[in-house]
Amino acid sequence: MKLIAANWKMNMTPSQTREYVEKFLPLVEMVQDREVLLCPPFTSLCVAQELLRGSSVKLGAQNCYHEPKGAFTGEVSIDMLKELGVSYVIVGHSERRWLFGESDELINKKLTACLKAGMRPILCVGERLEEREAGLTLKVVETQIRLALSCLEEYTDSLDIAYEPVWAIGSGNPATPEDVQLVHAYIKDLLRDINAKHRGESRVLYGGSVNPTNAGDFLHMENVEGLLVGGASLNPETFSQIVKSY
Ligand code: PEP
Repeated sequence: MKLIAANWKMNMTPSQTREYVEKFLPLVEMVQDREVLLCPPFTSLCVAQELLRGSSVKLGAQNCYHEPKGAFTGEVSIDMLKELGVSYVIVGHSERRWLFGESDELINKKLTACLKAGMRPILCVGERLEEREAGLTLKVVETQIRLALSCLEEYTDSLDIAYEPVWAIGSGNPATPEDVQLVHAYIKDLLRDINAKHRGESRVLYGGSVNPTNAGDFLHMENVEGLLVGGASLNPETFSQIVKSY
């Protein structure tokens, strides 16, 4: 089933979350052939969990820390997220990589902790503009995935991967569906190369300036198994249109 995920980033207070979810749920209640995921900030997880109970919309987090507990001021563990009904965690978003200095090594630790705890990660990968212009897109994506999955080769079916070119995020300038198709096919081959027993159960999502007008074009492409949506997920009507686009 295709996964349509909302990454709210640092937006929405708990009361705004309540208002959003109350509007959003009736708009998507008939959707059966798509998995829908909301990833609010940590401070809204509690209220979102309460409101999503009984619906098929899932709850995700935008980040986590890999240690189970202890002196890590400001961090949130996977057990804390699990208790709030979180079933997905975004790991390695480009904003975490480039604004907060997350290294491939840290991303690998976070993936390790998620996978060993039975939490499904959405690993974000993607090239920056200068890398794209230098023809390095596939190399960058491959390196990010290989490093993220280092010593986790047997888990290739237990995560989803979001291909998010950094230059397309929040820019209003999405990649073309044809380019996305090419990178996604490469990622799928790569997973089979990393794990000879790969069963093809990990979805490859596209993210980067998705909106209700272009969502259907991406979802039409073979190998595009979902979308990760930032800006356009902040309005419940707009996001519901993306969820329902074909
Ligand atoms: C994102 O941040 O994951 C994202 C895809 O953002 P936007 O949809 O705003 O480009």
